[in-house]
Amino acid sequence: MLFLEFARVCERLEGTPGRLDMIGVTAEVLPGLDDEELPIFVRFIMGRVFPDWSTKKLGVGPNLLYDAVAYVAGTKRKVVREAINATGDVGLAVEDLLAKKEQTSFFIQELELAGVYRELERMAATGGQRSQREKLRVAQGLFGNARPLEGRYLARLMLEELRIGMGEGNVRDAIAQAFEIDVDLVEHAHQAMNDLGEVALLARRDPDALSRVTIEPFRPVKMMLAQAGTIAAQIEEHGEVAVEYKYDGSRFQFHKVGDVCRIYSRRLEDVTESLPDIVALLREATDHDVILDGEAVAVRDGRPMPFQYVIRRFRRKHEVDAMMEKIELVPRVFDILYLDGETLMDRPFSERRKLLEGALRDHVTGQFLAADVAAAEAVYDAALDLGHEGVMVKVLDAPYTPGVRGRLWVKVKPGVETLDLAVIGAEWGEGRRAGTFGSFLLAVQDQGRFLPVGKVATGINDETLAELYALFKEKVIARSGKEVTVEPEVVFEVGYSELQTSPNYASGYALRFPRFVRVREDKSVDEVESLDSLTERYIQQRNGQGSL
Ligand code: AMP
Repeated sequence: MLFLEFARVCERLEGTPGRLDMIGVTAEVLPGLDDEELPIFVRFIMGRVFPDWSTKKLGVGPNLLYDAVAYVAGTKRKVVREAINATGDVGLAVEDLLAKKEQTSFFIQELELAGVYRELERMAATGGQRSQREKLRVAQGLFGNARPLEGRYLARLMLEELRIGMGEGNVRDAIAQAFEIDVDLVEHAHQAMNDLGEVALLARRDPDALSRVTIEPFRPVKMMLAQAGTIAAQIEEHGEVAVEYKYDGSRFQFHKVGDVCRIYSRRLEDVTESLPDIVALLREATDHDVILDGEAVAVRDGRPMPFQYVIRRFRRKHEVDAMMEKIELVPRVFDILYLDGETLMDRPFSERRKLLEGALRDHVTGQFLAADVAAAEAVYDAALDLGHEGVMVKVLDAPYTPGVRGRLWVKVKPGVETLDLAVIGAEWGEGRRAGTFGSFLLAVQDQGRFLPVGKVATGINDETLAELYALFKEKVIARSGKEVTVEPEVVFEVGYSELQTSPNYASGYALRFPRFVRVREDKSVDEVESLDSLTERYIQQRNGQGSL
């Protein structure tokens, strides 16, 4: 497939408003692709370059991209930046600039879809001191051969945000439709393989194998996620449930085969080098090949420390030893996904728990089985007394569902409602906040798109404000008056008093009294609140249930 054809599909999808039509358009294309192109197309169409389990990073920031485009268009970075500010969209600006240049250039080498992928792979593989120069060279080569329309999607792809509304759900449905396979089967295989590209390939080659896919060590799967809920509702629906302390740390997934161990963060980054102590503790505690799911908790003098300390350790790449002395981390393991060659995700939680207790000598979280509300609430009270965040209430016969935020795990904690939202813009501050960003535009996700739900300005102290400025000034992709658009990469946890419907924001909702709680450095923007769950919260609130 030519990259130009890919760009045309993207353009068509961008102009297709209905979800079903978008799925139809994509499903039509998939069968015609060859085995190399199919997985690449599937990832590209979601704005991703590598499989989700892969720890490879493209490492292209806006400035590198602007420089490459400026070079090809025969202009300055400043001009590129201004064009982006004027259109508010990197893709359209690049398209315009290339269109102007096109009249003067004669020679274009056709870009192939697979060829573009190989070049991007080359970019990701360049490291070390000269890496920026090398990446720039590759980017210049690509833009140099791109027609304007190709440039639009190439630029967005390099920033890994295609803005055409093809999220995982749509692509999954398109694969099912294209190869006439049950959607649940595609979803199940996706959960285990964590790469829709490879799932698509299997769906075409050997659909029966989709039901037999297994989790592979060293290819991390997405974490199973929890929804806010109540103890009473959970017990009423399921009878006996497992109640566990909710530790305030950071999530990890530990993989071990023989002597080889790797550990991944919640965002599936490989953090093995940052967490040698956790790795050593887990390695010593098992004689098996395992994939474990747990929480890293910080302790000092035997007492739990706040979450921020844990995150510092996860990010630490240098002088890890010195940092380890200051902040000791211990693992709390609550699930097992793989044991000695067998994938356990479809086994009921109660069975997985027994296997976990048999496989790991230490560090398994405490668990209480409770069939009545009073017993479960006693655990909740004890959890708060011990300084934990609350409890997790888990359904005993539930499978492990990677990446799914559902009611099979319910989190119960006191205090205000909070939402995890993507920051998509900011506004320059006034008065005391002049010269820095004073408020931040927040968004929920809906099928790969980010839809605004409001702005947050309160709850941010001066120190944090300075940190946020440093963080976001690198991510600005467009400016217009007092407002800037930033690459959606950062997640804020935000408190609010009430959810309201609103015509002012594209999500259709607005937050009343939004208050900044913290940056969720452990979360990626794929994990922010979805429009569907926001709607569910709104309905719950209207029915007077709250979500606690
Ligand atoms: P939240 O991050 O607020 O959505 O809450 C869910 C998170 O709580 C999980 O992703 C884990 O990182 C963390 N957690 C702490 N203790 C447990 C536990 N016992 N079981 C599952 N998750 C836990």
